[in-house]
Amino acid sequence: MKAEHYVGGMFRSDGEEYPLVDPVDGSESGTAPEATREVVDDAVRAGRAALAGAWGAATFEERAAVLRRIADGIEARFEEFVDAETGDTGKPRELASTVDIPRAIGNFRAYADLLYGRPERAYTTAVPGWSGGTGQALNYTVRRPLGVVAIISPWNLPLLLLTWKVAPALAAGNAVVAKPSEETPSTATLLASVIHEAELPPGAFNLVHGHGAGAAGEFLTGHPGVDAIAFTGESATGAAIMRNAADHVTPLSFELGGKNPAIVFADADLEAAVAGTARSTFTHSGQICLCTERVYVERPVFDEFVAALGERARAQADYGPMISAAHRDKVLSYYRLAREEGATVVAGGGVPAFGDRRDSGFHVEPTVLTGLPETARTVREEIFGPVCHVAPFDTEEEALSLANASPYGLAATVWTRDLSRAHRVAPRVETGIVWVNCWNLRDLRTPFGGVKASGIGREGGEYSLDFFSEPVNICIQI
Ligand code: NAD
Repeated sequence: MKAEHYVGGMFRSDGEEYPLVDPVDGSESGTAPEATREVVDDAVRAGRAALAGAWGAATFEERAAVLRRIADGIEARFEEFVDAETGDTGKPRELASTVDIPRAIGNFRAYADLLYGRPERAYTTAVPGWSGGTGQALNYTVRRPLGVVAIISPWNLPLLLLTWKVAPALAAGNAVVAKPSEETPSTATLLASVIHEAELPPGAFNLVHGHGAGAAGEFLTGHPGVDAIAFTGESATGAAIMRNAADHVTPLSFELGGKNPAIVFADADLEAAVAGTARSTFTHSGQICLCTERVYVERPVFDEFVAALGERARAQADYGPMISAAHRDKVLSYYRLAREEGATVVAGGGVPAFGDRRDSGFHVEPTVLTGLPETARTVREEIFGPVCHVAPFDTEEEALSLANASPYGLAATVWTRDLSRAHRVAPRVETGIVWVNCWNLRDLRTPFGGVKASGIGREGGEYSLDFFSEPVNICIQI
């Protein structure tokens, strides 16, 4: 596919072209243009103009209607989106057609729905009566959009994570300049064409392609015309963006990395815990921010659990590659490091041989490790591949202190049949999301985000609308 920028309602492809690579077999699959500073400037300017024009004047109903047309437009071109997403990421078609593309549609519909409940809530925060001794006053609060918002997204769930921010940003009335990952620009380009057909006013949504550091991502996040930044990606990139945005004190919403723990108690339904942990570790070859990389299992069931999870790892079929040769090399460097640090490799640990075109792609084996101390880098650092380390524990307190001894705090799973224990343990796990006897079960209205190095702020439902708008209090003396 040939990716294009979309600025002020027009497609353009200025900037040097760089090749896109199909991670399934390493072949060249298309090109994308590298946005110059001028393209980024034009996009921010187009956003500002849209706010001063038709988009700034759009009513709630008009915004909701356009979000619904965008959802319908993606649905009408469903297969094209699935092709583009699998082409860029190499993920199994089944995953793209049951998760990525339906969720992107759902993101637009969810925010169109939420918008309808919103005006009521936003305009009824009135505080009549209290005067501070100066007579009667009426306070009421309105919400207004932030302005031109920058959205920077990663390669792992390209359309899902992009639309997770674009939908609420538009719902709240902002203009958007989006930059998807340089590795996965295709579904974002298709989205721009759907948005174009949905007749969103020109400039309300702009798309620029290119790399991050020293390129489009940096030009955008340091831009004085950008009023807020919503970013999903690595924690180190978040820190770089924060430094870049500091001069303009730009508000930030960050969804960052993780080293997510699972805690399996001996009273758990072991089969469900093993199946759930296999899913949470190996889905999309571990390239989901919510994936489990540390598993703590109560000692009486430790051996049984490890054997069963190892079997599941070996039985993984039709799994996708790492996104790039560089990321494959990074994951394999952790497989090597784990051995050097003294790990027992229960399953995997290498590169699979398929005997077909995939052998020139970027696959790594689903891997289960044991035997490492908690100080090992393999246990502390985010790998972002299909791999977990399993360690035993003896008490509830120990399980909690192991799970919480991490610089990250995105998501956790707890497996137990004891209701009291579930309620006791879950709130004490230091992550933004805790799943009990399940994983990645999502309601789009709930708060989504991480603590510690895993993020700043929450997205989802009203939380996103709150981030993408500013409460303004109006006080009238009466
Ligand atoms: P990344 O941080 O390398 O890149 C993400 C985006 O940031 C890309 O668009 C990239 O071009 C841009 N970028 C890079 N450097 C930049 C800079 N200096 N200034 C501005 N933009 C810059 O992340 P990735 O490798 O694409 O994605 C994987 C990471 O994302 C993992 O750490 C994963 O845990 C995290 N992630 C988090 C969540 C979440 O919701 N918390 C979801 C998905 C992925």
